[in-house]
Amino acid sequence: MKDDLTSLWEATASDAPETVSPKGEHVCDVMIIGGGFTGMSCALQLAKGGASVIVVDAVRPGFGASGRNGGQVIPGLKHDPDTLDQLYGEYTTEFVGKTAETTFDLIKQHGIDCDATPSGWIQGSVKRDHLGWLETRMREWQSRGADVRMLDTTEIQSLTGSERLVGGWFDNRAGQLHPLKYIRGLTRAAQGAGCQVFAPAVVQRVKSVSGKWHAEIADTNASIKSDHLVVATNGYSGDLFPKLRKSLIPVNSFQVATAPLGEEQLAKVLPTKTPVSDSRRIGNYFRIGPGGRLMIGGRGTFTDPVSRAAFQEIISELHAYYPWVKSVPLEFYWAGRLAMTYDHFPHLHRPVENMTMAVGYNGRGVALSTSLGKAIADNLLAPDTPLPLRFRDISPLIAHDMHRAYATIAIWYYRLRDYLES
Ligand SMILES: Cc1cc2nc3c(=O)[nH]c(=O)nc-3n(C[C@H](O)[C@H](O)[C@H](O)COP(=O)(O)OP(=O)(O)OC[C@H]3O[C@@H](n4cnc5c(N)ncnc54)[C@H](O)[C@@H]3O)c2cc1C
Repeated sequence: MKDDLTSLWEATASDAPETVSPKGEHVCDVMIIGGGFTGMSCALQLAKGGASVIVVDAVRPGFGASGRNGGQVIPGLKHDPDTLDQLYGEYTTEFVGKTAETTFDLIKQHGIDCDATPSGWIQGSVKRDHLGWLETRMREWQSRGADVRMLDTTEIQSLTGSERLVGGWFDNRAGQLHPLKYIRGLTRAAQGAGCQVFAPAVVQRVKSVSGKWHAEIADTNASIKSDHLVVATNGYSGDLFPKLRKSLIPVNSFQVATAPLGEEQLAKVLPTKTPVSDSRRIGNYFRIGPGGRLMIGGRGTFTDPVSRAAFQEIISELHAYYPWVKSVPLEFYWAGRLAMTYDHFPHLHRPVENMTMAVGYNGRGVALSTSLGKAIADNLLAPDTPLPLRFRDISPLIAHDMHRAYATIAIWYYRLRDYLES
């Protein structure tokens, strides 16, 4: 028998919005493949702007990373602001600096009940060697007016209750939410604005006929015709667009959550309930989840886990942060797939004039995918509206079929570098 790998989010979310599989022929201005944050925030903005929109998800909205992640709403990219200015320009830096604000504003505007809290975020470090670049990052954001500051050893340990962390920085623009409640609320808002959402419905083929896209849905006679196609399949990108799939490395991130902690335990661990990510190349993220449970996540295997035995590494990390938590039972184990890119930047493609693809958030997509989906919609509604990233060619990775082998080597290399730093 397989172990129960139901997520804590699944166990505590509101009901899923009603969706049906499509039948017959449908026509719309924009069809979106993928009902995660990217697809659904794009759909909502388009529908509000008067476009007719259809979103199709293979399973249900939020089935992918959007319904499974750590719920940390973090602005910025994994690159520093000065680097972003040089590579993309100040508009991009400003955009990524505001992604958390954009997300919280959207939630407020649509009254989405998803436990959204602008609690700030800590990027902490277990390595003194990392404090220099963390300070550079903090200062670069600070010089752009962001409400951020450094945390010394005493302060980070009192904010996190972990003696493992030696310092870090605090980003007051950030926060957290319940990701499955959020994507379900976003879906309801899009439906309320007139968007049709079809699920389960696997898009198995798209072809261009006289300037329109014709999409075929597996195991049905349904077809959907649209003027524009948005592809938002991220870590779940399959063979519908093989070149796109081969430009990404899908990676599982694993999470576990403890049984509810008591008042005294909660006062010892993350007393201000601020979420934390650690700065290692192969690092962890942790926070307090629904019911006062401590949850932690980090890099898992490439294949989807089928048993709780696969979570041993993440459990060891939990106990390294909080040795006393060894006596607290674990109640939830789950995983989700994110998409890595070779340059750690998200990738925006427009291979032909009437198709847009947005993928590759490298595990930092709650705020970014929400904001990018919205920005794509604004650009489709008014083509003069600039996008925050320039379009790039889709570049399949050489020997992509070997990605597990070379990504494993890369992970060991990163782990070794993490290990060698003090
Ligand atoms: C475990 C985990 C923890 C994470 N934690 C954080 C965090 O704390 N903070 C943060 O900022 N980011 C985090 N991330 C990253 C973040 O969740 C993602 O970047 C973001 O959700 C991506 O959203 P998306 O809409 O692009 O893709 P997804 O949410 O993955 O959606 C893609 C959808 O496409 C659908 N699909 C695929 N192919 C087809 C097809 N042929 N036809 C129809 N539908 C199809 C799938 O069913 C899926 O629902 C985490 C990711 C994971 C996996």
